[in-house]
Amino acid sequence: MSQMSKIKEMKKTLLIAIVIIIFFISLILFPKKQEEAEEIKVIATLFPYYDMAKEIGGEKISVSLLLPPGAEVHSFEPKTSDFIKINNADIFIYTGDFMEPWAKRIMESISNKEIIVIRASDGIKLLEDEDEHEDKDDNKYDPHIWLDIENSKKIADEITKALIAVSPKNEMFFIERSNNYINKLQKLDNDFAKSLEKCKNGEIIYSGHYAFAYLAEKYNLKHSAILGISHDTEPTISSLLSVIEKIKNEGISHIFYEELSDPKIAKIIKEETKAEMLPLNPAENLSKEDFEKGVSFIKIMEENLENLKNGLRCK
Ligand SMILES: [Zn+2]
Repeated sequence: MSQMSKIKEMKKTLLIAIVIIIFFISLILFPKKQEEAEEIKVIATLFPYYDMAKEIGGEKISVSLLLPPGAEVHSFEPKTSDFIKINNADIFIYTGDFMEPWAKRIMESISNKEIIVIRASDGIKLLEDEDEHEDKDDNKYDPHIWLDIENSKKIADEITKALIAVSPKNEMFFIERSNNYINKLQKLDNDFAKSLEKCKNGEIIYSGHYAFAYLAEKYNLKHSAILGISHDTEPTISSLLSVIEKIKNEGISHIFYEELSDPKIAKIIKEETKAEMLPLNPAENLSKEDFEKGVSFIKIMEENLENLKNGLRCK
């Protein structure tokens, strides 16, 4: 063999060796890529569940919110594409059949039998709408369970368990994030309890829909809402007049309104009573703008607390 062909032969061997090395490297890398593709898919109907899953799951999950930001929560009906989305998910989170009556239908029709379903209201004592509202026959229970932070902690715990069940190898990752998040919720709860302990006005008067039963019960406040749970009805003249009378008689300084809908009722009350208007957010959904900014459930609750402290004149 000539010197030239020896060099050629060596080059060939080297090339083969490189190809083999690349092959083995790709073998090592390949399962990792597959793992990334197997990201845990979580779908939540409402913002609080979406936000909690995002906080606990971090980069290990891809979470989507079924309700488009800004959409009306209580009259939402899913589209066919939503059925497909849920069918492809690992975890589906919703409140309960009294809030999302269509969820049962979806669960019965989807082929994905592996899906873990979290019914957030399971194990939570439901509170009824205690005001006189026309839609009470359809909506007896207040679905805004997350407004009692104790409930939110339970829901966060259920989400953590479900994530671990889907991906046991990430157990420590989820537990650490979950503990961290639950600590933040606990701090929020402590802040609420401490700040709302001594208030001059003990009643939240809300010009929006019935949403604050859990929050009021937790912190020993009274509350009334002008609209029922589904908030598609108009307030009756008599309910409007009785609120105006109450504000005047009891010297109530603030009326709370809903940010996502037109505060026309609060404006009428303000005109009549000189009560000031303050926003109070049930946190069930966000405006598109806030959603894109990444506003969190805890942030909304912190703002709610500031407004409650001012509006109820707490020390
Ligand atoms: Zn609501």
